[in-house]
Amino acid sequence: MSVLGVDIGGTKIAAGAVTDEACVVHGVTVPTRAAEGYDVSIGQVYRAIGECLSAGVRAIGICAPGPLNPKTGVVLNPPNLPGWCNVPLADLVCERFGLPTRVENDANAAGLAEVRFGAARGFDSVLYVTLSTGIGAGIILDGKIYHGKNGAAAEGGHVTIDWRSDTICNCGTPGCIEALASGSAIAKRGRTPEQIADGVARGDGESLRILDEIATMLGAWMGSMISLLDPDIIVVGGGVSRIGEPLFSRLRRIAPSRTINQFAAVTPIVPAKLAENVGIIGAASVVL
Ligand SMILES: [Zn+2]
Repeated sequence: MSVLGVDIGGTKIAAGAVTDEACVVHGVTVPTRAAEGYDVSIGQVYRAIGECLSAGVRAIGICAPGPLNPKTGVVLNPPNLPGWCNVPLADLVCERFGLPTRVENDANAAGLAEVRFGAARGFDSVLYVTLSTGIGAGIILDGKIYHGKNGAAAEGGHVTIDWRSDTICNCGTPGCIEALASGSAIAKRGRTPEQIADGVARGDGESLRILDEIATMLGAWMGSMISLLDPDIIVVGGGVSRIGEPLFSRLRRIAPSRTINQFAAVTPIVPAKLAENVGIIGAASVVL
């Protein structure tokens, strides 16, 4: 027996049958063809699911671009899926394939996967952070995703850290951590995370300066998250996290200095364990 995990991205859809031990046994990837509109891209979703369905599959979990409501399974109006507007994705997939289906946002699902199978295994209060093009977060309490009233909770990337900032976030608010310290913010400084990692290893001054600046902001933000949540552990994934130890050592030093929480210095801040297939395993975790 297995479940299906489906990860809908702006450019590709990855799907696969996932075992109870989080092994992806049969994975496929198809282009989303998002620019061709709703009828084409939803057709690609059905195609990806159809290609990896087998008799043993008992449920379908889907990660889709937000905003969406995980409680109802409705995808609202994601900027990178043109034409999608209030799509009842969970109901559509459930009716078409006759299997229980749930929809979740990618950071929540990845966080749940880290709790079930990755770096946060065995912990009750978990903050998952993805540092990528944007910054996403997931809060998992007692093994369950914290959704809030409308399923819109844990938008950690849109916490303001500089209310006077001239940098306006995609959400319209000045000074969100996502606008100031995400992969896109690093790109605006003319570097990729890989180049920062290489540069820091070589002792390049500009790379060190950018890393210090980004880590200072992320550390202050993470300190606030610790004040708010007092988590057992913070797990950090996403492309920017691949800067590795130079980033993590700074976060571990800065975050405890930016919180009232007396226990912050011993709160583990660790890299995510699931890298490959995290989207598929995350989606599957929602129904496992
Ligand atoms: Zn924002």
